[in-house]
Parts: sequence; structure tokens; C-alpha cells
Amino acid sequence: MTWSPPDRPHAPLSEWVRPIHDWPRQGVLFRDLTPLWADAEAWGRTVRALAKPFDAAPPDLVLGIEARGFLVAAALAAHWKRGVLLARKPGKLPGKTLKEEYELEYGRASLETHGDLLRPGTRVLIADDVIATGGTAQAAYQLAKALGCTPIAFAFLVELLYLGGRAKLEASAPVHSVIAFNGEGRARVSE
Ligand code: AMP
Repeated sequence: MTWSPPDRPHAPLSEWVRPIHDWPRQGVLFRDLTPLWADAEAWGRTVRALAKPFDAAPPDLVLGIEARGFLVAAALAAHWKRGVLLARKPGKLPGKTLKEEYELEYGRASLETHGDLLRPGTRVLIADDVIATGGTAQAAYQLAKALGCTPIAFAFLVELLYLGGRAKLEASAPVHSVIAFNGEGRARVSE
């Protein structure tokens, strides 16, 4: 069956997320956010919903996780008129970096960031597109701590409830997501 984005305005945000079965490998149900990003109304609504819990006391800076997390971090930072810090895959950032390794489903990965751009105590929000097992965001949290920052929360466009990432992260900081999926179906949408 072919997938198409909703043809009515103000449809639930989850309807702009395209499910891609068996990508990037067999058994994975990939949540493709490109239709959401391509729709000005839906993307604007998503950014406002993601920012809302923090509007009263926004972070000093948003830490974005490569690569799709950069889009989320940049949109939130523009919403609050704040800066962005990049957590990148190894070897991408010039100059001196801090590195944090973490477990993937198969093997290990790492994230790097610049250690010389922030004052200790900077209040950071950690942003990514999707939380699955939470390992990537946890590594970003460790990087923020290593920088001497104060991570105030995690923010994700999509949460995959069946992979349990929230429980892992909530020991470190509160978790906020806008769209949540429970297996194949939709579980909760914040607006
Ligand atoms: P995890 O470390 O398991 O929480 O994985 C989160 C990272 O992997 C995020 O940067 C996501 O972009 C990506 N990711 C993991 N699973 C999916 C999925 N099913 N659909 C889309 N992105 C995913």
C-alpha cells in the first residue's frame, strides 16, 4: 500500500510520520519524519508543542544529536532565541573534542562535541528526532555533564514506547516527546 501525507489541515501530527518497514535493515520499523518537516503547518505546530513545557524557563542552549537532531535543536533554539551545540559522529568536528562511547543494538558508537564553547553551569536541553532505546541521548547527556553543563531535560519529536528509552533517561533528566508510538499503532499525540 502506498503512503501519503494527510490531505486535511491540522491532522494529528503522527499522521505526518511515514512508517518504513525493514529499513535500514530487516526487522526495523523506521519512523520517517521528512513528510512532517516538509509541511510548514505541521512542523510549526510540532515545534511549539515540543517547546511548550520549557517556554516559561527555556534552556540557555540546545544540544542537537547528529544528524536529524540538528533540525530539532535548531528549530527549538530559534524559537527561544538560543544557541546550539553539536553532538557529532566521530571525526566530523574540527579541533579539540570530548568523546562519549555508547552501546548500539549491534556494536558500539560514539558522539563528540567541542569542550571549549560553554561556561560551566550552562543549562542545556538535549534534542533528537526519535528516542528508541535511549542509548544515543544518554551519551549526549554524559557529554553535557563532562562539559560541566546542567542538562535540564530531553526533547524528542517521536518516542517509541515499546523500546523503553524513557525509563533509561528519566533517571538523569525529564523526558518530553510530542508523538508517541506503541508498536505499529499510534499511542498518544500531545495536540
Ligand atoms: P536509540 O539510541 O536507540 O534511542 O536510537 C536513537 C537514534 O537512532 C536517534 O538518533 C534516531 O534518529 C535513530 N533511530 C533509532 N530507531 C529509529 C526508528 N525506528 N526510526 C527512526 N529513527 C530511529
